[in-house]
Amino acid sequence: MVRNCVWRLAAGIILLVAVASTGVAQLASSSREVQSLRLYVLDGGVLASDPARYRLTADDVEETALAVAAYLIVHPRGILLWDAGAIADGERIPGGTGVEQRVLRHDGEERFVTLGPALVPQLNASGFAPADVTHLALSHYHWDHTANANAFAHATWLVPEIERDAMFADEPPGGVRLATYTALEQSRTVFITDDEHDVFGDGTVIIKQAPGHTEGHAVLYVKLAQTGSVLLSGDLYHYPAERTLGRLPTFEVSEEQTRRAREDVEAFLSRTGAALWIQHDLPAHRRLKKAPEYYD
Ligand SMILES: [Zn+2]
Repeated sequence: MVRNCVWRLAAGIILLVAVASTGVAQLASSSREVQSLRLYVLDGGVLASDPARYRLTADDVEETALAVAAYLIVHPRGILLWDAGAIADGERIPGGTGVEQRVLRHDGEERFVTLGPALVPQLNASGFAPADVTHLALSHYHWDHTANANAFAHATWLVPEIERDAMFADEPPGGVRLATYTALEQSRTVFITDDEHDVFGDGTVIIKQAPGHTEGHAVLYVKLAQTGSVLLSGDLYHYPAERTLGRLPTFEVSEEQTRRAREDVEAFLSRTGAALWIQHDLPAHRRLKKAPEYYD
């Protein structure tokens, strides 16, 4: 009996080591291909929207609909997924790209997304599998940024503690879909404490805290050799008109914090010379190269 248990334990350890070493081998091979930093733009479809939720009118915006995007940042030391889309690959309704899918948020409000391509096939087309992703960071917890999060629960999750606490509170925020990220509760988690968190230790990929939209909302700075530096906005802005007209969404956790975060980020942009990429800006998103093409 005891010997049987020992055998099982030994077999289990061997299996664990085998799985772990396989994971490392896969990671090494996909990272080795990349000598310098790359940014892949992943298309997450189009989200129906109402500019009034952002204190704007239809005349203020070029298009009322919003883009949904996720980004794969491939660094020689690891691979970061920034945001995880609005519709999980496993919940897509039949019909594929171009079909409108209804989504219910935690608070019962409905939203409509015109499907783009599924997320994992975009990774695969770029030469990566979900298992290759070493780090996951979400700009914030709203449903249109978390859809495929569970597929990356094996990665190290980089999150401010206050954001994680809100996500797993007894009563989570109304704008989430809890089921899309429940697996993250068991993820290896690194709490972001610095205002600027240097993901790979060389200053090229930095998560910058920009709270207010949610408790721990953040933006992502990526310093690319050819393209130059870009700043992925999260939901600090949705439409360019929020920036030019100084308008705030109507549903911030703290408008005061968002105002301060915007001032802080604008100063950061001036200091670094980074280009601001407003993730939800549909006309701008359409102009970007999409995976498997990439920015470097
Ligand atoms: Zn959003």
